[in-house]
Amino acid sequence: MINVTKPFLPPYEEYRHYLEGIWERNWLTNNGPLVNDLELKLKEYLKIKHLLFLSNGTIALQIAIKALGLKGEIITTPFSYVATTSSIVWEGCKPVFVDIDPKTLNIDAAKIEERITDKTTGILATHVYGNPCDVEAIEVIAKKHNLKVIYDAAHAFGVTYKGRSLFEYGDISTASFHATKIFHSTEGGAVISNDPELIKTMSLLRNFGHSSSETFGPAGINGKNSEFHAAMGLAVLKHIDALLLARKTQAAAYDKALATLNVQRPEILNGAAWNYSYYPIVFETEEQLLKSVETLNGHWIYPRRYFYPSLSTLDYVDKYEVPISESISRRSLCLPMYHSLKQEDIDFIARLLLRVQNNPI
Ligand SMILES: *Cc1c(COP(=O)(O)O)cnc(C)c1O
Repeated sequence: MINVTKPFLPPYEEYRHYLEGIWERNWLTNNGPLVNDLELKLKEYLKIKHLLFLSNGTIALQIAIKALGLKGEIITTPFSYVATTSSIVWEGCKPVFVDIDPKTLNIDAAKIEERITDKTTGILATHVYGNPCDVEAIEVIAKKHNLKVIYDAAHAFGVTYKGRSLFEYGDISTASFHATKIFHSTEGGAVISNDPELIKTMSLLRNFGHSSSETFGPAGINGKNSEFHAAMGLAVLKHIDALLLARKTQAAAYDKALATLNVQRPEILNGAAWNYSYYPIVFETEEQLLKSVETLNGHWIYPRRYFYPSLSTLDYVDKYEVPISESISRRSLCLPMYHSLKQEDIDFIARLLLRVQNNPI
């Protein structure tokens, strides 16, 4: 069976090495030494100033919204994972959808201003598949209208834009280190910001608001992560360069094998060094997608419809016209991509897709 992704497990001995330390110290959670070490090593690897390791990428979004004090309306993209929208609603704000650019599949910066009202306080955009949003245009709009910017950078581990970590753009970026992401700690996430005051606030928020053992700052939540998760993160981080390289090689193999397949691929923003974390294709019609999925499933191959449905169709959001997102979400498919996927698997998947295209019934 070939799934869209398969979590990477480091050699067991490498993980056990960290577990032995946990047993020696008897320190399981609450800002332990492995959590600190992981935060330090991630900052070094990504060349960023500040990062807080959290329990997951959804809590990261919620803490970011809370730390920036966003209220009222938040401009966002309908083409993302559901956590992007549900976090806005969970924080008592209203998601206001702006359609996506049909080439990059990210929020269309040129359409943001027409949805800004006197209730808008922020923009929450996703770097879809790790492809950077038009961060410069978004920054100009945010400054002009005094809005805060959060990037859901769950897919963007290791991506740089103009030589800088993509995580450093916006007021806050959030990351997910879920098992299915390219870098993971089983469950996990992070917030990244260049503003030390925001980092201080978020470190209070992730720990119940404790400013000391008996004093409390803002109303917080439990967003910390454990030594066991940090251990997995540290063990995976040792292999990250190989994991990123494997994705790049596989993307090139797909590109070659699928050269004659009639699908659209997202256009990567100029100036970006991408991480190839997914292999998305956009069919001309949903019917072609469904036939392709059926054929692949018949051979025990399970691609995923990322992202379907368009979040604008959720039953707990107000309706906005976002025809491009609704059309693309019906036609986009992520092909299998993970460290141990073989060249022959890629060739087989490509042959099946071409067979569906060339033998329409
Ligand atoms: C995975 C993902 C999340 C959620 O992250 P978790 O760590 O699973 O909570 C949020 N946004 C996007 C775009 C994602 O892909």
